[in-house]
Amino acid sequence: MTPRTITLHDCEFSTYIYEEEIIARITMLAEQIDKDYEGKQPLFLAVLNGSFMFAADLLKRVSISCEISFIRLSSYKDMQSTGHVKEVLGLKEDVQNRHVIVLEDIVDTGHTVHGLLQQLNERKPASVEVATLLMKPDCLQHPLDVKYVAQAIPNDFVVGYGLDYNGIGRNLRDIYKIVS
Ligand code: 5GP
Ligand code: MG
Ligand code: MG
Repeated sequence: MTPRTITLHDCEFSTYIYEEEIIARITMLAEQIDKDYEGKQPLFLAVLNGSFMFAADLLKRVSISCEISFIRLSSYKDMQSTGHVKEVLGLKEDVQNRHVIVLEDIVDTGHTVHGLLQQLNERKPASVEVATLLMKPDCLQHPLDVKYVAQAIPNDFVVGYGLDYNGIGRNLRDIYKIVS
């Protein structure tokens, strides 16, 4: 496929991972999750906004019985009570004794997921795993075990397929990488 270039705000991006490849990877993740969670009726918690497209494409390929809910993380950092960890908003479900699978758009340093897992674990779930569309293993600063990764990427800034650059680009069907 011919690479395409777009401009978002002040930056140029070019096509990096095409929709077809993303869907192929997501299909494999869904099959793995179906096997791992058979009979467990997991609760998927998709972290908005970035994971909305990943969550939709993954979950329509998951065929086991499951629950789906959406959470947000506060943008400010509450340093007093949680030490740089973003607060979880919108979690209505009781996660105690549930098998929880967090859906994320991207794991970069791992700060976000690390803080989220700490907060979820306080609620005593039966298990918690993370499924992420993208992961930058070279940037990880926490000993995180991310069980389901659709695609590992180098340390480049990417947009599209749910991921934004200053608010725009989430609707792009392919993933684009910043042109350096
Ligand atoms: P972390 O806490 O793992 O360092 O990063 C978490 C958040 O940073 C992600 O949920 C995402 O919002 C943002 N982020 C990290 N890398 C990228 C990237 O390459 N592109 C975009 N659009 N956001 C990113
Ligand atoms: Mg995210
Ligand atoms: Mg963002």
